[in-house]
Amino acid sequence: MSAAAVGHRRGLARAAREALAGKLRGRGIGDERVLDAIAAVPRHRFTEEGFTHLAYEDQSLSIGHGQTISQPWIVALMTQALMTKGGLGQVLEVGTGSGYQAAVLATLAPRVFTIERVAALYRRARALLEELGYDNVHFRCGDGAKGWKQFAPFDAVIVTAAAAGIPPPLLGQLAVGGRLVAPVGGRDETQELMLVTRSRRGYSERRLCSVKFVPLVGACGE
Ligand code: SAM
Repeated sequence: MSAAAVGHRRGLARAAREALAGKLRGRGIGDERVLDAIAAVPRHRFTEEGFTHLAYEDQSLSIGHGQTISQPWIVALMTQALMTKGGLGQVLEVGTGSGYQAAVLATLAPRVFTIERVAALYRRARALLEELGYDNVHFRCGDGAKGWKQFAPFDAVIVTAAAAGIPPPLLGQLAVGGRLVAPVGGRDETQELMLVTRSRRGYSERRLCSVKFVPLVGACGE
């Protein structure tokens, strides 16, 4: 491909990302820092080949292994829920999946720790983020419900798979003053997206909206 054609293609991808950010603004995402991050991350690199043409639609897509890359609106909503006036501190993500949410977080935070239980997804996301130059993301393959004690406490924790309750280790590894966002609900129940904040006095929680996520699986690795 000629340099001009490559430049044209890059321009189209940038325009598609900005259009997506605009669509999310229209759907109520008001934090411009989050919208800038959405406009900066090339989502088409995180989707399966057959779905590239849908990468900038506001929808979740299959990434194989029975898993999905989340809908951009939910990625933006969850990220926005974690943001403070000062931005984002150190983040723990449970459920790396495609690595897209991790890339959005890495655009906003100094360090992101992300855990995925499916080895093939862990390897693919790690290689892709390295190729794209995200050098502030740390990957682990295993059961994210246990958190990542070595690097705790985290200013923000995001869980991208649903369980009947929030795993206690994740609450324990949340810093005082930190925020945690997670879908809560059993397999056949309506799931609610919950925002938990930790203060010196304890934890308080607020329901954000109803959601549909794949289950948080207890078993480790593949
Ligand atoms: N954040 C992802 C993205 O941006 O593509 C979407 C994540 S997908 C909705 C949920 C992911 O959580 C899946 O990849 C699944 O394998 C992973 N998962 C489920 N249970 C897990 C666990 N106990 N520990 C770590 N990852 C888990």
